Amino acid sequence: MEKQNDQSRMDRIVSLAKRRGFIFQSSEIYGGLNGFWDYGPLGVALKRNLKESWWHDMVAGHDELSTLPGAPTPYEMTGLDCTIIMHPQVWKVSGHFDLFHDWMIDCRESKRRYRYDHLHGRWASHRGKKVFVVTDQSGEEAAPHTVQKAQKFFGLRAKQVDEIEWEGTLVPLAASVADGSVTLSGALGPDAGEAGTLTEPREFNLMFETRIGALAGNDDDRAFLRPETAQGIFMNFKNVLDTSRVSVPFGIAQIGKSFRNEITPRNFTFRSREFEQMEIEFFCKPADSAAWYRFWRDRRWNWYLSLGLTAGKLQLREHHADELSHYSVGTADIEYAFPFLAEGEFGELEGIAHRGDFDLRSHMEGKLVRQNGQLVVETGPDGKPRHRGSGKDLSYFDDATRERYVPHVIEPSAGADRAVLAFLCDAYHEDEVPDEDGKPRSRTVLKLHPRLAPLKAAILPLVKKDGMPEVAIDLYRRLKAHMPCMYDEKGSVGRRYARQDEAGTPWCLTIDGQTLNDQTVTLRDRDTLVQTRVPIDACVDMLRERLH
Ligand code: ATP
Repeated sequence: MEKQNDQSRMDRIVSLAKRRGFIFQSSEIYGGLNGFWDYGPLGVALKRNLKESWWHDMVAGHDELSTLPGAPTPYEMTGLDCTIIMHPQVWKVSGHFDLFHDWMIDCRESKRRYRYDHLHGRWASHRGKKVFVVTDQSGEEAAPHTVQKAQKFFGLRAKQVDEIEWEGTLVPLAASVADGSVTLSGALGPDAGEAGTLTEPREFNLMFETRIGALAGNDDDRAFLRPETAQGIFMNFKNVLDTSRVSVPFGIAQIGKSFRNEITPRNFTFRSREFEQMEIEFFCKPADSAAWYRFWRDRRWNWYLSLGLTAGKLQLREHHADELSHYSVGTADIEYAFPFLAEGEFGELEGIAHRGDFDLRSHMEGKLVRQNGQLVVETGPDGKPRHRGSGKDLSYFDDATRERYVPHVIEPSAGADRAVLAFLCDAYHEDEVPDEDGKPRSRTVLKLHPRLAPLKAAILPLVKKDGMPEVAIDLYRRLKAHMPCMYDEKGSVGRRYARQDEAGTPWCLTIDGQTLNDQTVTLRDRDTLVQTRVPIDACVDMLRERLH
């Protein structure tokens, strides 16, 4: 029951996001494009504030002279902005070209395509007829979907659904095919009417391909849109070292677009085909890398809390050994209980990975694979490296200890769009507030952290006369020099408060009759609804103070 509420809660969040101009479907007037989203006037401000908070807290505002709690030593931070299209060899050596794929499965009947690891199913039988019913729905919607499918398959009326016999609970299709308990020929696809229409799973590369140059046509012109921002940082590791006087330990940060041709984009912006990442590659001495890994895991976890994400909805999940990428020494995901997920399920916001020297070594020597516990250059049938590295020396000489080594890398990799979605979901509240006459009125409010809020304040003259607008406009101009704010004189003050609550504006400043007598205004707090009188000349400093 509760989850049904959560799904409808998610629907209301999506509808608010559209109605108030946070997020629109891309190319909507042409019917939209699945997996692509645009940020509207309020959304762009929210997303920009989120990225700027990240950049400020991780990079620009970082104090490299002090030792942060949990850090082994002080460290430096710097940044980059790299291209989306890079030399194709980057992706061959990084492993994305060979490995960056999902298994997908097609339905011959419905022509729909599914991610193999997203399909679940269970056995259903009715009067001797038996079928494995597959669903692509997740969470609480999955089981009812299989009931609906089975009812149709067996040709039953609604009141006959209780006659269907079910065997066990929903299980992943891939695992059931692997252990032989299910064959695809006996499976009823999520959108099919007949069993046996699902094809064998096939690999599908998630990188978008493009061609470089006007005469593009042969294989050498093939290029890819980056599926992560990290590789641009490795490409410039030596440039940064040679030009910026940084020394290990140090981090390079980048925010930028990434592209993945996701097979089943879904859950609003959670799984998009074009999205933004906020990534740090942190280079450290191999012996200290485990301590740095723990430091970054905890630092990134605390960052989400510092911006107000509800602790009880966040989860830090350390990967089990068998889940780790072949190069990874340790990985933790920071996950959020999004409302579109079933009870107890969490979706990844950020991964923090200890990547050892995998990346720098690959770009020196060639694509690496693990063999007998060691990373070795993968060779082709001719015994030569399958994908050759750059041959450039990317090792580091430590002046203090007179040692040369290939630094180890800790990578906190976050998604800006997923973070925006988590903050939106977390901030969304429905409550009741007294209106001007003291009667309870239901309101929708986004309790966004003031640093993230698109607008920090609204300046409202109580009425459009008696000199109030002039005083309000003057205050608006003074405040606008310091923070995004808006002037609004349209409609009743209650309606104007409601509009600001929906936009997540933390403070409203109202100019009324008393202002003209004693130079004070009403400061209304979005979350507590407390109204206090503040001298008009103190407003700017007071709000600036609160934003810090
Ligand atoms: P998932 O398993 O959900 O596909 P991933 O483990 O492949 O994610 P990473 O490669 O670790 O993701 O990417 C780092 C971050 O980039 C993720 O934590 C997420 O916030 C973001 N991200 C990855 N894929 C997408 C996507 N399709 N849409 C939006 N954000 C994404």
